[in-house]
Amino acid sequence: MKLSTRLSNLVPGGDDGWGLFMKSREMVAAGVPVIELTIGEHDIRTDPTILTAMAEAAQGGHTGYAAVPGTDDLRRKVAERTEDRTGVPTGPENVLVTPGGQAALFAAHLAAIDAGQPAAYIDPYYATYPGTIRAAGGVPRPLVTRARDGFAPTAQGLAEVLPGCASLMINTPNNPTGAVYDAATIDMICAAVQAEDCWLISDEVYDSQVWAGAHISPRARPGMAERTFVVGSMSKSHAMTGSRCGWIIGPEDAIDHLITLATHTTYGVPGFIQDAAVFALEQGTAFEDKVGAPFRRRRQLALDLLSQQTLVGHVPSGGAMYMMLDVQATGLSGEAFAHSLLEAHHIAVMPGESFGAAAAGHLRVALTVDDDRLMDALRTLLEHAQTLTRQTVHAD
Ligand code: PMP
Repeated sequence: MKLSTRLSNLVPGGDDGWGLFMKSREMVAAGVPVIELTIGEHDIRTDPTILTAMAEAAQGGHTGYAAVPGTDDLRRKVAERTEDRTGVPTGPENVLVTPGGQAALFAAHLAAIDAGQPAAYIDPYYATYPGTIRAAGGVPRPLVTRARDGFAPTAQGLAEVLPGCASLMINTPNNPTGAVYDAATIDMICAAVQAEDCWLISDEVYDSQVWAGAHISPRARPGMAERTFVVGSMSKSHAMTGSRCGWIIGPEDAIDHLITLATHTTYGVPGFIQDAAVFALEQGTAFEDKVGAPFRRRRQLALDLLSQQTLVGHVPSGGAMYMMLDVQATGLSGEAFAHSLLEAHHIAVMPGESFGAAAAGHLRVALTVDDDRLMDALRTLLEHAQTLTRQTVHAD
């Protein structure tokens, strides 16, 4: 039977950029000890106290259909967290609980764009972005940024890409680049979406992981709350990736419609997961800092190591659990470098190309193994870069 074009064209060419990741997983399954610096997932599991809260809620009977918009307690807690962090008045009526941030990204686009409308996003980008826009019926339009601008959009880039778009999606702190947009960049983005009269979809799932500068939510800028959807999640801030618990924050009337969408799609998030999320949020910012601390520490260790050489560059990163390394001086693409590193040394990093044209010649390193193994892997990566460069020079 013929599949819908929307589904069969979700990822054109069938390559979603995760080929290297699949290859490293196959090697692991075959018993090869690969150091995996690929996927954005903590090397700790969900805290036992959160699991206890989850189990108690389930055993206490919260296993039936839960309230589709989210439980009152969780909606209130998410609203409080948002208001505390951004100063924007936010109530439960502005919050829809979703099965993870990914579902929120999809819902936000369904709310913002009509079928066939262009929707902009920043390149380099989190791998699902173009497919999410296509799934919602839109036409993905990349705004290509440059390493020399810290992978932040410029006024010129916005002016070129935004006209005719129904929405712009941004992500700060950024996956894959680690970029944290400064106040001037946020102001420029807000002015551009206001001038174009389009929605802003602000993916803030890394808002608790900022190592340089400060996280600024564009929803807090004047006139932005009415045209901004903020996407959040328990995945990164609380190491709850598998619990699939996130949210979307937006204007009340838009949230009302999105609740109707949830009724016809997800039918909500399990009640015992939501109760665990309430417990987790009650632990406050100290808990979120504790979850993020290893990434802050490892980023500094990596920066210290990188500063001892000049062959492999890096894009200054201010947040999240990644670093972008520049391997262009080796003469290899990020893709070729990553594959040769995996084959020669059993170290898996993501080719920059997996995250869009703008990250070509780069590698995304996830800081998600313990400090010693990470430093060993990075030292080997730098030696490998030296070896490859000697070979390339020799071949020339
Ligand atoms: N946005 C970004 C930028 C991400 O990196 C991720 C997960 N890697 C997500 C959204 C989705 O996360 P989740 O669905 O687990 O909340």
